[in-house]
Amino acid sequence: MAAEIHPRPQTRKPVLLSKIEGFQDVVNTAVIIPKEDGVISVSQDRTIRVWLKRDSGQYWPSVFHTMPARRFSYQEFVLSEDYNQMTPARTYQAHQVGVTVVLFVLEMEWVLSTGQDKSFTWHCSESGQQLGIYRTTAWVSGLQFDVETRHAFVGDHSGQVTILKLEQDNCSLVTTFKGHTGNVTALCWDPVQRVLFSGSSDHSIIMWDIGGRKGTAIELQGHNDKVQGLCYAPHTRQLISCGSDGGIVIWNMDVTRQETPEWLDSDSCQKCEQPFFWNFKQMWDSKKIGLRQHHCRKCGQAVCGKCSSKRSTIPLMGFEFEVRVCDSCHGSITDEERAPTATFHDSKHSIIHMQYEPTRGWLLTSGTDKIIKASTCSHSIELRISAEPELRIMCLWKTFRSLSMGSFILWRKNSRIS
Ligand SMILES: [Zn+2]
Ligand SMILES: [Zn+2]
Repeated sequence: MAAEIHPRPQTRKPVLLSKIEGFQDVVNTAVIIPKEDGVISVSQDRTIRVWLKRDSGQYWPSVFHTMPARRFSYQEFVLSEDYNQMTPARTYQAHQVGVTVVLFVLEMEWVLSTGQDKSFTWHCSESGQQLGIYRTTAWVSGLQFDVETRHAFVGDHSGQVTILKLEQDNCSLVTTFKGHTGNVTALCWDPVQRVLFSGSSDHSIIMWDIGGRKGTAIELQGHNDKVQGLCYAPHTRQLISCGSDGGIVIWNMDVTRQETPEWLDSDSCQKCEQPFFWNFKQMWDSKKIGLRQHHCRKCGQAVCGKCSSKRSTIPLMGFEFEVRVCDSCHGSITDEERAPTATFHDSKHSIIHMQYEPTRGWLLTSGTDKIIKASTCSHSIELRISAEPELRIMCLWKTFRSLSMGSFILWRKNSRIS
């Protein structure tokens, strides 16, 4: 399938295009229908709606479907060409208890899913047969797949990311990444740069440079609350992250960032040599008062408060917010190095789910205010898909933090976006 991409890499502020309101309950997932002025939403009240933009400029539902209360399976539907009808195609019985994440891999014809039973399974979407199962250590909340190497990235509630190598009917554990102090809430894979992004309830994003093969992990600090979603815009090389405080951060990934240094241990300030408060001997010998230990975020040295009185952003280390630096590092950071590598935007609602549609550069967010907002985020690219597609969606129900939630996947059968 030929897809032509003409990149125009300028960034611009997200501009609100439209709002979809009138939901009785929170929308857990929503996607833009490719090439259409349409949105599909799944709400907590188990309703699936297909919204089309009418001549009035308003979105009105063309399909309103209520899912059964069973939550242990997920269902595949075929959506008619005119978006007025949705026909159930297949039900996948995948888990003993609630489903947490579902991911469809068109190239493999595989459906990957995870459940509260701490199992990860994959099914063939052509036959509906279960192909394999793997037991995870905690509830999974993020799932990504690399088609080229058949690696699955599984992010869980313990804060770790497990990498599995999948075969047709078995899988093996490759490695685990540990870096977050909170739950992994979102995962995003860039198959070109071979970089995995993980977002967490600890407010941070970690960029795991898998392709670089040096074990480089860079933290991106730009949120004041839980990270709720991550999307990668490959044609502009931007990472889009959103948080439950409504913040949307657009990160320029076309810059080379450095890892933060290890924090050094010392009994006294590595600048003025004053003892820290636990160094009783030196405190006694030099008749000095013990000081509290701090660390410079740039050089990692253990310093006292007096020697690290200044704050600075260090965007090239992922610190878009001001952090503690020692006085000598503060003097060495140039204005050029302080230039932000991300832009910050306010969606004005607490985001539950985010989707980025690269062909038009549209960003869809759904919030706790029961509203879906569609914005343009960057210059659109022209992407043409040559196929007569049959539109399918896949729905799942999950009990997550004791709430029942729905999620779904959307794809066009027999079409590939490269
Ligand atoms: Zn000092
Ligand atoms: Zn320093």
